[in-house]
Amino acid sequence: MQFTGKTALVTGASRGIGRAIAVQLAKQGAEVFCTSTKEGGCADTLAAIAALPAGSGKAHALVADVGDVTSAEALAKAVLDQNGRLDFLVNNAGITRDGLFLRMSADDFDAVVGTNLRGTFLVCKAFARSMAKARGGRIVNIGSVVGLTGNAGQANYAASKAGLIGLSKSLAQEFAGRGITVNVIAPGFIATDMTSVLTADVKDAMLQQIPLARFGEPDDIGNAVAFLCSDSAAYITGQTLVVDGGMTM
Ligand code: NAP
Repeated sequence: MQFTGKTALVTGASRGIGRAIAVQLAKQGAEVFCTSTKEGGCADTLAAIAALPAGSGKAHALVADVGDVTSAEALAKAVLDQNGRLDFLVNNAGITRDGLFLRMSADDFDAVVGTNLRGTFLVCKAFARSMAKARGGRIVNIGSVVGLTGNAGQANYAASKAGLIGLSKSLAQEFAGRGITVNVIAPGFIATDMTSVLTADVKDAMLQQIPLARFGEPDDIGNAVAFLCSDSAAYITGQTLVVDGGMTM
């Protein structure tokens, strides 16, 4: 239980990767705040954490739209009022609105950048002062391999995830002196609701490109986040850790 006594926030923890991250951190003893945009959205995540062995961390559900300033600030207030400090901030909430560039609307661009990049900016901003004052903490932002490679049909999403890398490196430099590390995890293809909408042909083509010959599981990302939050990762900051079965090496 390496995270006993630590508090974590995982945005977008109602399902998929966010839920796996929340469960993994709780399994290691952290008290975890889980968000969804919907009341009751994190019920299954809370049930999964309640079913963990004795000594695991507790979980709380909060409703937040990370792309909204008022909502992000209210989220930070709710966590800090209850706990006084936040040790691990995991910005996982994300959306896609795929389409070829010539057909992509400005609204589709704004929506994806607004949640994935602006949302991460706003939540980091809402917690930064308190984490700096505590002189310690970990921020882990969930990017994507397409933020490194680009992807046809995902100009908005790839731009948002590439932007996360620049944001994270800048925060890593600004907050290193306060003992806060800031890193990105760039998942490849992970089996979740987000990727379940892809056609069988697209999935087959992707599988051919993965040397480890399987799609990633949400736990593969949960384990990487736990590592970056652990004492073992104390000297790692400003980095992008690719977790993709070798797809983009
Ligand atoms: P998912 O199953 O679609 O879950 C997305 C989560 O984000 C949900 O919990 C959702 O909450 C939340 N969310 C969406 N918009 C939000 C907003 N405005 N404010 C707060 N929360 C919001 O996605 P996933 O596959 O687990 O992906 C999680 C993260 O990993 C995303 O950042 C995604 O870009 C990234 N990623 C995924 C893959 C993959 O292959 N799956 C690959 C690379 C990167 P609600 O309960 O409100 O719906």
